[in-house]
Amino acid sequence: MIPKDHPRYRSLIARERLARCAREGVVTLEGLAAHGRGEAFDYLIGERTTPSAAVAARTAAAMLLSARHAVISVNGNTAALAADDIAALQRVSGADVEVNLFHRTEDRVERITRLLESHGVRVLRGTAERLIPLSHDRALCLPGGIGDADLLLVPLEDGDRCAALRRMGKTVITIDLNPLSRTARTANLTIVDELTRALPGITAGCSSLEPGEAERLIGSLDNAYLLRAAIDEIRENLSHALE
Ligand code: ATP
Ligand code: MG
Repeated sequence: MIPKDHPRYRSLIARERLARCAREGVVTLEGLAAHGRGEAFDYLIGERTTPSAAVAARTAAAMLLSARHAVISVNGNTAALAADDIAALQRVSGADVEVNLFHRTEDRVERITRLLESHGVRVLRGTAERLIPLSHDRALCLPGGIGDADLLLVPLEDGDRCAALRRMGKTVITIDLNPLSRTARTANLTIVDELTRALPGITAGCSSLEPGEAERLIGSLDNAYLLRAAIDEIRENLSHALE
């Protein structure tokens, strides 16, 4: 039992949930390592949504609502940490949700699908085909889902697949605490924030965009600027760290 007043309560709860989901076959051991890298960057960023991440989340909302066919691509860590947040975002954005895994087995796809559905997410089902230009099973996705999408939200993505999705001509939004990752630098839009803070930010954006705001946000999107702002915010946070 983790006491609620523990200074690292949220972090400990997230670890406990990931460990449980790893034992249940939803999260992989590699996923646990990836979470650790994210936690380290969250420390550096001050475990808060920075001003540039808030703008990025609002821009993501504008892009989701303007897309012809938006798909949220969900992996094991995302399902374990944020199934409720994905359900809420799907409700306001109307986006499809597809399970897409780096370490893919049909058993894991089914477990993650059932976990998401138990939190109210409508998950696309069907027969996956090798549509993403990558070797091995990372190429698999649904023709009527990721295969057809013009816009993808891919939280906690791998750099290679992000680049392959861009090569397919898709617009890619990612959520990644590491502003230096290949994914962060390859995506059209990167929200440098923790998954469970970023998703509610996008959901709130979807229901509060002012008339004309979506066009303005999309028109002024500059991901290199957002990544530089995230690094500046880390530097600023570190310069006050021991005060
Ligand atoms: P890349 O392949 O893009 O260069 P990587 O190989 O360093 O990145 P991956 O394991 O492919 O990392 O992807 C996981 C990414 O997700 C990491 O950059 C990590 O910082 C980030 N991450 C992990 N957990 C979270 C989280 N809860 N919220 C936001 N980002 C996270
Ligand atoms: Mg990677």
